[in-house]
Amino acid sequence: MPTTDRGKAQRAVVEKVLALEREKAFADTAVVGGLEGFIARHVPEASHLVSGYAGRDPESRAQAVTALELWLATPHPREPLSAIPVSRLPGVGKKRAELLGRLGIRTVEDLLTFFPRRLEDRSQLRSIAQVRDGEVVLVRGAVRAKSRVKVRRGLELVKVALDDGTGLLFAIWFNQPWIWDQIVQDGRYALYGKAQLRYGEMQLENPVWEEEGTGLQTGRWVPIYPTTEGLTQPILQNLIRHALHRFGGQVDDVVPKEIRDRFGLPTRRDAISRIHAPADPPDFEAARRALAFEELLLLQLGIAQRRAPVPSGGRSLAPDRTLLGRFVNGLPFALTPSQQRAVHAIEQDLRSPQPMLRLLQGDVGSGKTVVAAAACLMAVSAGAQAAVMAPTEILAEQHHLVVQDLMRDLPVRVGYLSGGLGRKERRELLRAIADGEVDLVVGTHALIEEDVVFRDLALAVVDEQHRFGVVQRAALEAKGRGTNILVMSATPIPRTVVLTLYGEFAVSVLDEMPSSRGAVRTVWLSESRREDAYRDVADWLLRGEKGYVVFPLVAESEELDLRAASEGYEELRARFPEHGVALLHGQMPSEDKRAAMAAFRAGEVQLLVATTVVEVGLDVPDASFLVIEHADRFGLAQLHQLRGRIGRKGQPAVCYAIGDPTTDEARQRLAAFRDLTDGFKIAEADLRIRGPGDLLGTEQSGFVSQLRATDLTRDLPLLERAREEALRLAKEGIPPELGREATRRFGESLSLLGV
Ligand code: ADP
Ligand code: MG
Repeated sequence: MPTTDRGKAQRAVVEKVLALEREKAFADTAVVGGLEGFIARHVPEASHLVSGYAGRDPESRAQAVTALELWLATPHPREPLSAIPVSRLPGVGKKRAELLGRLGIRTVEDLLTFFPRRLEDRSQLRSIAQVRDGEVVLVRGAVRAKSRVKVRRGLELVKVALDDGTGLLFAIWFNQPWIWDQIVQDGRYALYGKAQLRYGEMQLENPVWEEEGTGLQTGRWVPIYPTTEGLTQPILQNLIRHALHRFGGQVDDVVPKEIRDRFGLPTRRDAISRIHAPADPPDFEAARRALAFEELLLLQLGIAQRRAPVPSGGRSLAPDRTLLGRFVNGLPFALTPSQQRAVHAIEQDLRSPQPMLRLLQGDVGSGKTVVAAAACLMAVSAGAQAAVMAPTEILAEQHHLVVQDLMRDLPVRVGYLSGGLGRKERRELLRAIADGEVDLVVGTHALIEEDVVFRDLALAVVDEQHRFGVVQRAALEAKGRGTNILVMSATPIPRTVVLTLYGEFAVSVLDEMPSSRGAVRTVWLSESRREDAYRDVADWLLRGEKGYVVFPLVAESEELDLRAASEGYEELRARFPEHGVALLHGQMPSEDKRAAMAAFRAGEVQLLVATTVVEVGLDVPDASFLVIEHADRFGLAQLHQLRGRIGRKGQPAVCYAIGDPTTDEARQRLAAFRDLTDGFKIAEADLRIRGPGDLLGTEQSGFVSQLRATDLTRDLPLLERAREEALRLAKEGIPPELGREATRRFGESLSLLGV
């Protein structure tokens, strides 16, 4: 109980009631409505002590009263809502608690912050005479007739006729026999549902219903929650209403009043009660924004807190400008302005004693590799070592080839560390890395194995971050001292996601394409028109062009997928015997992969049949066409990555996406893929179509799902403001209670993320 004056007065009242109850021999007559309800209202924290009081025998009641008296006599700090299990609420037994747990709801706080996804307008009453087929309507009236029919085994229906004076309408519920007892003849009810004209009758199938005048499920804007099997909308709504009623008053403010006032935000208590019972959509949105601002502020504060002290071991590097100039002048092309800006920003970072933490973003083909190479050169020219980590052997090897080529005339010794090295080779390379005889090491996650020791690692470049856990990034970082980090994202990420997940990163964006790049044309074909694509492929091959046929490969059906790819390969080989057809998939021995890639580069192989291993980063500039089989099974970002593999010299190129999507989401995805070419637009479409949870890897999505009120598809302005406030607070000193709250809510996931 609170130890305020109000708390004291309240305690006195409760004590008096308990004394009276004792006097009346535990007859449950001390207060109107019973002791249990009274305690629930006045000292909800102790209500578990008197649960089921009315049904207990006098002895058990006496024990309960004694327990309560004892409880009152000992000082109790108020129990935080995050410590009260949902099972404390009436109607929540073991089974229901488990179902709630599936939605991530374990405590009263979880329940109160389980926000509705949307509102449904059930406020507009319609007279039955005006109900039209296909409309979603709210009607009210009296039940004139009821019937119950067992159509067949497993199908039972309850049907009622509702009369509102203007006409008759029928409601039918399937397999909900209990409704028969709940709806009474001549009772008045409100029904909400979709009207359908059937056999000349206007019917509502499985409508939402309640007694007229209840005003919970109908007659207003009703919040709609995500549910799970066994937990219906009304059950959740009731639980939340109950929790609000009983615990809503204990919701404390989080955002300091000064900030709330400046942004015109309601208190947390107000916002929480309004988001669950809004008057209308603007009211809902105002509450949602207040709660979103709060969680975004806390998140940014959490990030700021973790970052606060300048990591020890930071040092400034002095890159050699002359060498950098030689590198840039030796390129067969001029850097784009955004590449120049990125290189410049990285140079500043390296010179600063604070370790660099930079995200390099750019669309497929925007030229991230050259920027990374320049970064490595700068670190090496300052006398230190650099490492580049790629997610697959093929990519690592390609980076190695490209980097070696770029550094060809420069004093940079490049090494390649892969899982495929022989024991002796590996030992020799490790020695060279440890002695500093190798300046720049390119590799896979073989780089983070324990026995890889650098003489002086100053820069770690991590390509295609999404593929690596943050743990792996950290492991590479730990091989140096105050290591500078450059993360290259495989595809563009929407700005909201960048600010959320990479809040502490500086960001360089390559937002223009090297001028040589033309747009790839994309066609989407249904399976029945697959042959059209392959007739085109025959033409491409006859003209001497090369390209890819890609099959999906997902872990769950790996064997089947591999078989499909191999069969596809056999067919194509038989069909185009003169053009060289090769197969490439992740489970092939490295030797064979390398041979297939080399033959494709050299042109001996014109058609490369591959599984998704080619999705990221392959750079064979003269590949001009791409067929994607089962395109509906790929993610949008993946599709975009794949498409980025062709037309890299600016030559005309065509992508054939073959697929018959079965879900709405997949249809939207393929349409977006066909219609959009800009990677940033694609990323935003992806976020809209899938929601943030799926957009990111598992670690990240767990983290983003903690944002309960935020909508990353449209809260960018809010996020930017929250971030500004957080940065200001971090500078002026974060109020301790705010800092604690940030840690409580986001600390764990931030440390998981390695932020
Ligand atoms: P991504 O950003 O997808 O990793 P890459 O770094 O692989 O892109 O670059 C794509 C292609 O564009 C490469 O062949 C590269 O040599 C070329 N390239 C990079 N920068 C430029 C530029 N400024 N002008 C012309 N071509 C460039
Ligand atoms: Mg790349």
